[in-house]
Amino acid sequence: MLVVMKNDATEEQVDAVLDEIKRMGFRGVPMPGAQRTAICILGNKGPVEDTQLRALPGVKETIPVTKPYKLVSRETHAESTAVIIGDIQIGGGEPVIMAGPCAVESEEQALTIARHVKRHGAKIYRGGAFKPRTSPYAFQGLGEKGLKILQKVKQETGLLIITEATDTENLSLVERYADIIQIGARNMQNYSLLRLAGQSERAVLLKRGLAATIDEWLMAAEYIMSEGNRQVILCERGIRTFSDNTRNTLDLSAIPSIKEASHLPIIVDPSHAAGRRDYVIPLSRGAIAIGADGLLIEVHNDPSRALSDGTQSLYPDQFAELMKEIERLKGYL
Ligand code: PEP
Ligand code: MN
Repeated sequence: MLVVMKNDATEEQVDAVLDEIKRMGFRGVPMPGAQRTAICILGNKGPVEDTQLRALPGVKETIPVTKPYKLVSRETHAESTAVIIGDIQIGGGEPVIMAGPCAVESEEQALTIARHVKRHGAKIYRGGAFKPRTSPYAFQGLGEKGLKILQKVKQETGLLIITEATDTENLSLVERYADIIQIGARNMQNYSLLRLAGQSERAVLLKRGLAATIDEWLMAAEYIMSEGNRQVILCERGIRTFSDNTRNTLDLSAIPSIKEASHLPIIVDPSHAAGRRDYVIPLSRGAIAIGADGLLIEVHNDPSRALSDGTQSLYPDQFAELMKEIERLKGYL
């Protein structure tokens, strides 16, 4: 249930509502909005008896929330959320481009790619230091050494950093270096990792699981938000289907579905969806045209020698072309 406060409700009145919710045995989470504050009730199993709440001063109305997810739902927060980090806004503005290699391989590789993507308009640098790989024999990432390289990238270029935390053991290390913690597709339902990310001060990018429905994905985001973290970005990266022309099937319909169900920003990763670089530009065009709040793109200076995901990584020139196309598309948005 959502308790909507009047426009002129005071802080004391909000606190009194929170106290009453606590007395009822539930948790109240204030959701400040542009016009007024609403308070979301968490922890109830069924309908909440709201007579007492409605009678409290400053309360405008109570609204039942029909979805199993509450904090991520547009029912509890009608305005779209923008995740703001420094002077970068993800959601509700221009599409934000995050680009870089699949994995940090060396300082030279990371910096070469970073300078290039920065020059062409990327705002956020991606690169994995901890890599979740299908094979235990594949390159697993440079670990902390990779994070230190990302720190250098940030110092030299000013790009913000997004990098993945693959388990609860490396999350606290990752958050020391990352502006955005990436939770990968394979970990979308790793609930202890989600809870820990929810306790972080950093923004979190939550990728859609390989076979996750929209509701399961939003419930995973709810885990993060229920721990207090409001800075959650969703990322559609393709799902498993019977279609085998691409590595995964990019579900562009997820963007309007998420925008309808949730206030959170959503970006698209066409690289992992396609699995092949020649589809990345057309899929990116589609994603921007349909209203994605940004893109996550793999780029490599020498893809044929990349230690992971070389076949889907754009050549530097292709990234420059992609950015030009996005500029052109912005004129139509
Ligand atoms: C990645 O971004 O490199 C990655 C491993 O992505 P996903 O979790 O979507 O497979
Ligand atoms: Mn990758």
